[in-house]
Amino acid sequence: MSHVALYAHVTWAVGAPAVKSNEEQKEHSNQTFFLRLQDPTGFVDVKLHFNERWSAGKVFVGHVIFLTGLTTIVGLLTVEGQWLEKDTEAMLVNITQLPALLSSPSLHQIFPLSSLSSTSSTTHVCRVRIGKLGPEDVQVRTSHARCGRAFRQLNSLVCSFCGGPCDDREAVPEFMLRTVFYDSAEDAGVEVVAWCAGQAAAEIMQACPSDFCSWPEEEQAMYMYSLENEEFLVTLYWGLEDDHRTLPLAGPLPLELQLMAWRVGGAQKQKSPSKSKSTELHGWEVYAQHFRGRSL
Ligand SMILES: [Zn+2]
Repeated sequence: MSHVALYAHVTWAVGAPAVKSNEEQKEHSNQTFFLRLQDPTGFVDVKLHFNERWSAGKVFVGHVIFLTGLTTIVGLLTVEGQWLEKDTEAMLVNITQLPALLSSPSLHQIFPLSSLSSTSSTTHVCRVRIGKLGPEDVQVRTSHARCGRAFRQLNSLVCSFCGGPCDDREAVPEFMLRTVFYDSAEDAGVEVVAWCAGQAAAEIMQACPSDFCSWPEEEQAMYMYSLENEEFLVTLYWGLEDDHRTLPLAGPLPLELQLMAWRVGGAQKQKSPSKSKSTELHGWEVYAQHFRGRSL
C-alpha cells in the first residue's frame, strides 16, 4: 500500500552506522534509519531514507509521531514500511514535542498524575508543580543538536545515532534534569519522578546551560532550591532517550528497557496564582528573579 498516513508511538529507533572519516561520511550522504512504530493494532518497522542527513529532529523511544507518505509491504508475519524524504507527500511530525500541544488548550486534555500509566502509548499533558530540587539533580552534558543524542565519548568525531559531526556548530551543552512532580491542584498526593533534557529542561530551569555552568556552586545550589513549587504544563511520556539495537517481541526485558522512565517532552511555565496576587516577594524569590533575569 502507498500513501499511508500513520499516527503511532516509537518503540525502537536505530541510527546510522558510525563513520570515522570525511570520505566515509560522504558515502553515507543518503542516510537510512529504522523506526518501529506501534499502535493498538500492531507494529510496523519503517525504513526512513533522508535526502542528505537525518532531519527529523529529536525522536526518542516513547514519542508519538505522525508520518505521511509511507509505503507498506505486508508479509506473512510482519509489516514493513518505507518512507522517502524526497516524496512530496512525505512528512514526519513529532507530536510529543509539538509546541502547539501545550499552547493550544483545544489540542490537549489535562491528565492528573494519578492517571498516568506506563503501559499507555500516549503522550500525557499534565499541570504540575516541582518538588524540591538540589544540585545533585542536574547535570550539563554535551549533545548533538541535530538529533538530541548525548555524546558519550569525549573524543568522538561523529554522533553515534545520526552520524553527524561532533564539532562546535552541532555539539551543544544541555541540561539533564531529574525532577519530582506533584499535581499543581493538590497540596500533596501522587509524586512522579521524571527525567528531562534539551529544550524542555531549559524551560524548567529557566536558564541556559552555559550561564548556569558559569555560576559559583553555591549560587547554582540556591537557584535549584528556588525552583521548588514553580508550576508547569508538561508533556510526559514513558520512554528512553538512548537507543537500543534490539527489541524482543516476547520474553524478559533487556537492560535498556529496564531503564524506561517518565520523561518530559515539552514544558511551558505557568503563572503562579499566589504570586500574581501579591507584589511582596520572599527573599528567595528576589534571589531567583535576580538569577533568572541575568540568564535571559
Ligand atoms: Zn546525531
